[in-house]
Amino acid sequence: MAENKRDYYEVLGVPRDADEAALKKAYRALAKKYHPDTNQGDPEAEAKFKEASEAYAVLSDPEKRRQYDQFGHAAFDGGAGGGAGGFGGFDFTGDMGDIFGDIFGDFFGGGSRRSSRSYNGPMKGATLRTSIRITFEESIFGCEKEIEMNSKDPCPSCGGTGAKPGTHPVTCPKCGGKGQVVYSNQTPLGVMRSVQTCPDCGGKGTIIKEKCPTCRGNGYTTSRKKIRITVPAGIADGQSLRKAGFGDLGTNGGERGDLLVEVHVSSHPIFKRQDMNLYSTVPISFAKAALGGEITIRTIDGDTTYEVKPGTQTDTKVRLKGKGVPSLRNKNIRGDHIVTLVVQVPEKLNREQKEALQAFADAMDGKTPERRRGLFK
Ligand SMILES: [Zn+2]
Ligand SMILES: [Zn+2]
Repeated sequence: MAENKRDYYEVLGVPRDADEAALKKAYRALAKKYHPDTNQGDPEAEAKFKEASEAYAVLSDPEKRRQYDQFGHAAFDGGAGGGAGGFGGFDFTGDMGDIFGDIFGDFFGGGSRRSSRSYNGPMKGATLRTSIRITFEESIFGCEKEIEMNSKDPCPSCGGTGAKPGTHPVTCPKCGGKGQVVYSNQTPLGVMRSVQTCPDCGGKGTIIKEKCPTCRGNGYTTSRKKIRITVPAGIADGQSLRKAGFGDLGTNGGERGDLLVEVHVSSHPIFKRQDMNLYSTVPISFAKAALGGEITIRTIDGDTTYEVKPGTQTDTKVRLKGKGVPSLRNKNIRGDHIVTLVVQVPEKLNREQKEALQAFADAMDGKTPERRRGLFK
């Protein structure tokens, strides 16, 4: 699946550092060229249109673009193409609604695409959104979380119709079941026709004469539900997980929508993350830096010992391979942990330490400022 997908930048024909305006311009041109309304019955144009829309959906969203730049298509396929280490229900491609509104709003005259679609067919339920907060460690190693939220279920008394048991919803007389009404207005330019959602049935095409007493005609009941969320190892702050089928109820027999769970990762007092690498600072004593020796470095996996080389300068970087952040695709592939060694100059010395250090200074080539001052006395 993932392997025959074209690069999103290539699809839009823009450089990798293209800004928002360039992306939008490129997408508009492609969308206009391949739009289904102007290429009816041309499957190739439809495929091109979808491909461009998907590329734009990802690249126009800064967070998704960052993930795409880092992980490629794997960021959205949940490992479907990669095999090992994949996890289900994790994708970002379903949410095109905002994009269409944004792009087509200005050049297709405000949603002509949507109004031509029938309203009373099965419609997938809306995407619900929530968020969870996890610790830094949980983001590295993955975790299981349970969230509680209000969930709608089809009303058990009326089976979701909203009509009193024993009665049925009837065809809306206003729109004749179409869910839409056409208004004609005489204007100086001729008759203008506009199509609008039926105000009586709200687009459903049916109305309820006698409401179900259990759900008061809503067709659903609401209850608190616990939902388990599997957070994959390596997730970054701000990324979202999609739980398919945990969103709002569909209408007219449509499937349930999805739940998007945005993950917030708490910062860590010691470790900082950048992409797949971790960073920390470890102080070492002046003597250890000069003489060398063993130090203990805290990593996300626990303490590890490290042999400091004699003559280590401050700001020396140590790379601990494979101690970084796991790849979302395969948690066995990990980034590195980069440690900055900072040499600490002692601030307070007792008499004995002072003498020792003075002896050290004397043993050097004698060009210390103290020594020179001594000569002039
Ligand atoms: Zn009911
Ligand atoms: Zn109606």
